[in-house]
Parts: sequence; structure tokens; C-alpha cells
Amino acid sequence: MNNNLIVKNALLVTCDENHNVLEDAAIVVSGNTIKWVGPSQNLERDLDNIAPADAKIIDGSNKILMPGLINMHSHCGDSLFRGLVENLPLEQWLQTLWKSQAVILRSAENCRLGAQLGFAELLLGGTTTTMDNYWRPEQSVAAALDAGMRIATGGIFFDTPGMDGFTIDDRVAQAEALFAEHGNNEEIFIGTMPHGTYTAGPDSIRKAVEIANENDGFFSVHAAETKVEQQTIRDRYQTSVIRLLNDAGALSSRTALAHCVHVDDEEIELMATNNTNVVHNPLSNLKLASGFAPVCKMMDKGINVTLGTDGPISGNDMDMWFAMRLAATIHKAADENPSAISSHQALHMATLNGARALSAEDMIGSIEEGERADFILLDITGPHAMPMFDPVSHLVFSASKNDVSDVFISGRQVVANRKLLTLDMPDISQRIAKLQPAVKAALEA
Ligand SMILES: [Zn+2]
Repeated sequence: MNNNLIVKNALLVTCDENHNVLEDAAIVVSGNTIKWVGPSQNLERDLDNIAPADAKIIDGSNKILMPGLINMHSHCGDSLFRGLVENLPLEQWLQTLWKSQAVILRSAENCRLGAQLGFAELLLGGTTTTMDNYWRPEQSVAAALDAGMRIATGGIFFDTPGMDGFTIDDRVAQAEALFAEHGNNEEIFIGTMPHGTYTAGPDSIRKAVEIANENDGFFSVHAAETKVEQQTIRDRYQTSVIRLLNDAGALSSRTALAHCVHVDDEEIELMATNNTNVVHNPLSNLKLASGFAPVCKMMDKGINVTLGTDGPISGNDMDMWFAMRLAATIHKAADENPSAISSHQALHMATLNGARALSAEDMIGSIEEGERADFILLDITGPHAMPMFDPVSHLVFSASKNDVSDVFISGRQVVANRKLLTLDMPDISQRIAKLQPAVKAALEA
């Protein structure tokens, strides 16, 4: 496929280490890679040397060009259950929801449909990479490859049969099979993903770490999301969530811990000394009344904090722009400090920090020569985009998913002028409408 293209005359927000912003910029893409980045005027001069003759030219006037967003914690398949259960604390909410999931998710086809709906939403909103934790992850991988979505996923570990009915032995086999089948695919990331320390015991956690390490994959788990979870682990094992993970060898630079809302100073220290990444999910923490994650404290200790939407049932959408805006605002109020989490820090949480957590900062997360061409264009002609004194503050505090016009992943265009190119949305809508009554009926059975 010919992915040779040039975008010129754009306002470029690189999200690189130094937060470089370039007015009237151009990029040249050849195949899946960004070959050249610079001022549009230099493009004319260097064109013959850098751009393939057959390159398609895109006018980026009145657009911001930036890296695609990296959502480090999603449950795309949960799109099937959006809005089904509301106003309960996490534990009761999960128990209720699982009644419907236990029926609906027995079907691999339904899992695939949920993933497709989730990816459609993420792609249209400018998310190009998502770390997705879901039942039957092989369905998510297949759907992602079809849609051109860059996915990070892996085998779920859950000690009881769970929503898909598999045993822990089945899950170990599935986790290994995912590595065997997709571990060598450089376009996606495979890891292991125990659900939580309260649903997967220390033996399962150790096994998941071992499989991830053996295959040079990532490890991700829900951790210290609620007070109840911490109390459960104290009652059951006389330790805390992060200490348990540390004892199991699970804290490392290849680990992404989702939430970390209720962590003490020693736990933060353990994560920091082991270079463990944290995924902040502000909307989920607010809506499920889990609390405020000590994000500023973790960042002060040098922890790489990334951003996630969590699933569309604790959200009820997967909007990385809203996640960014919340991350940049709620901690100002919680810490009574208006300089807590700057717009630059929030933007990095949604881009470069996610790439770092995936050990892929040389591949994605910023617009730099030699990286994969994962980028988005945002319309900046709306009233909420003017005047624009600072493009980064615009992106964090004013921009929204509706501003995203075009999305490219590895040079392949997946959204053009706000239309999905790689997923059949009318077909997905029809199948969702058909399934909806069964989703509700399963809850009430
Ligand atoms: Zn989650």
C-alpha cells in the first residue's frame, strides 16, 4: 500500500521531549515512517531529496498536527454495556455488571463487536494506540489489526471462571498463545494483564509476570483503585496491593499500574525505585467515587504517569481529551495549587509518557523523524479555538474529540474528514441495536 504523503502548512505540536511547537510546518511520510519534519518553506527546497514523487499532498492550513493520543487503559469491549449500571460503588457495580457480561461475553463474536465499537470511538477521537484489557483478547487483536488500530493487550488472568467461562489454566495457555501468534508483530504490543490482585492471587500474578518477562512483553493490572480493594488485600494476605505486586516481582519499567488512587508513601517509593509506570484514569475515579490519585506526589518522585479513559461503563465514553482536561484541572483543586499539572505535563501524559510506558518512545508518542507516522489533524477554526496564544493550552483546556478531522496510524489513513475508513459504522450500529435487548435482559435474569 502506498502511504507516501506530505502534510504542509500545519501548526505542529510535536509533543517531543522539549515540547517543541512549529508554526507553518510540514512532515513527509514514506511508508509507515515520518521521514522529515521542518518548516513548510524548507520543504520546497528539499522536496526532491526527501519526498517520494508519488506522495499525496495534504493541506494542513488551519489545522494542528500532533501525535495520535495514547490511551493506556481501556476496556473497549465494555462499549456493549455503556450506561447499563449506574450510581454504585466499584465492587457492587462490578458484581451487577458481571451478571450481564457472563451471558453476553460467552460469544466471541460479541467480544469482537464490542472491540470494534470501542475502536471506532477511539479512532474518531484521535486515539491511535490503546492498552486494552478485556476478555478474549485475541478478538480485540483481530479487530485492531482489521481497523488499523495500534493495540497493546494480552492474556487476562482471573482466578475464577470469569465472564468468558475460562479456567486459569486456559488463561495461561491463551496468554502464551497470544505471544506465539503476535509477539513478533512490531506494530502491536503484547503483554499479560491480570485483572487485579483481588481477582488473581499471588500465584497467578507471578505466572503472568513470568510469561511477560520470558516474552519481553509488558505487564499491566488494576492496582489500588479503591479503599475496599486495599482492605481486601490486607485482610486476605496481610499486605498491601503495591507491596504484594512488588513481592511477586511485578514492579518494573515494563509495568503499567492502572489507577493507584490509594497508595501510601512507601508504596509510591516502591513504584518509583522500580521505574513502574502509572495510568491515571481521572474520569473513572471521579464517577465511581474511588478518590483522587496522588498524581503530583507520584510525578514529584519521578514516576512516569500516563493517562487512560478506563472503560466506557465507568466513563461512559473513551474520550482522551476529557481525560487530559480532567487530569490538568482536578489536581489543582484537590491540592489547592493552581500550578499542579501544567498543560504541557497533561499533554505528555496522553502522548510521550504512554509511549515510554510501552518502551516505545522512539516509535510513537511524538512527531519526530524516524518515528512511526501516527498523527492526527485537528480543526482550529471553531470559536473555542480563537484567539490562540498557546496551542498546548488550547489542546488541553479547549479542544475536544469533535475537532479531530484526520487520523493516520503507521502512515495509513484511518479517519478522513471525520469519517472512519477502516470500520463499517452502519454495520456496527445495526449489530449493536440487535444485541441491545439481550444485554439488558441478561442483567434482569
Ligand atoms: Zn479498568
